[in-house]
Amino acid sequence: MSQKKTAVVTGAAGFLGSHLTDRLLAEGYKVIGIDSLLTGNVRNIEHLAGNPDFQFIKHDVTNYIYLPGEVHLVFHFASPASPIDYLKLPIQTLKVGSLGTHNTLGLAKAKGATYLIASTSETYGDPLEHPQKETYWGNVNPIGPRGVYDEAKRFAEAMVMGYHRAHGMDTKIVRIFNTYGPRMRLEDGRVVPAFIGQALQGKPITVFGDGAQTRSFCYVSDLIDGIFKLSQSNYHEPVNIGNPREMTVLEFAKQILKFTGSDQPIIHQELPQDDPKVRQPDITLARKLLGWEPKVQFEEGIVKTIDYFRDFLAIKS
Ligand code: NAD
Ligand code: UDP
Repeated sequence: MSQKKTAVVTGAAGFLGSHLTDRLLAEGYKVIGIDSLLTGNVRNIEHLAGNPDFQFIKHDVTNYIYLPGEVHLVFHFASPASPIDYLKLPIQTLKVGSLGTHNTLGLAKAKGATYLIASTSETYGDPLEHPQKETYWGNVNPIGPRGVYDEAKRFAEAMVMGYHRAHGMDTKIVRIFNTYGPRMRLEDGRVVPAFIGQALQGKPITVFGDGAQTRSFCYVSDLIDGIFKLSQSNYHEPVNIGNPREMTVLEFAKQILKFTGSDQPIIHQELPQDDPKVRQPDITLARKLLGWEPKVQFEEGIVKTIDYFRDFLAIKS
């Protein structure tokens, strides 16, 4: 009998789920990856083909999940995650945050497994507190276009805390702030692949609004490290994981032009409704609780990401 513990990762063919799967395998877990391929791609996990510790199941987790055998950890990462995706897929987004969370919690409960859900800085909405601490309740428009994502995640957090309190389950909640790196989808509309794709393909850089809104970008290996540490912790309330280095979107556009060596113009387009004006994680809790903090400088992470998209575009053409 294998002594390895088994982890289930929903959304395993996505950007973060695939990196998390790699980390869990490296830590000596067996991994069962579940994904409906709604916004993900098997390309992100094709390097795991033939790995005896990895199994992939194509399944929509808004439907009942049946798995034989032991499971020790469940990571629920399945969900459309980019504003363009969840505006296009509003019902799927609401369902995976509600029914998908219910089913994955049910699986973890039946197996006596630890549970960790990928929540988001979007639970803070367009924040009136800056930087955002976990104690902030947020400023979300429930009926705006982003409400389908924000409220699904807020409901998911409430349900996870409900299962923790009612059933004594070992649950964790990570609030992820804008994360970037290889395996993002070029056309998912998020600002990192959007600007890099435009710069590399000789198209103007599309800054929404005046570009004064801010974001704080975390490189994927740092985020996954924080999430893995959280999964091993004994803490049950939400924890922010992100990189506090904040910049305006206009500044980010200029950085992308610099690092790609592009001379494309910056053009301005309409700011989407309810686009948060500021976003920066307060990571005091993660530092104290997990001894974690981001290590990869923006300049290093962005070059790796640009190199990934350069290779990706070369293969495509
Ligand atoms: P992604 O789109 O690359 O991955 C999501 C994956 O979930 C995809 O592979 C998709 O096919 C799968 N999926 C969606 N609905 C499903 C369903 N019903 N059943 C099974 N699989 C389904 O996005 P990502 O950036 O990797 O995000 C992963 C998680 O992290 C999401 O829950 C997202 O909300 C959260 N998150 C990400 C960020 C970020 O910056 N990347 C920030 C905050 C929160
Ligand atoms: N943005 C932009 N141009 C684009 C895509 C995004 O100016 O082509 C802006 C967007 O309006 C937001 C920020 O970049 O202010 C980050 O957007 P993203 O879609 O990455 O995710 P968000 O942080 O809003 O969830």
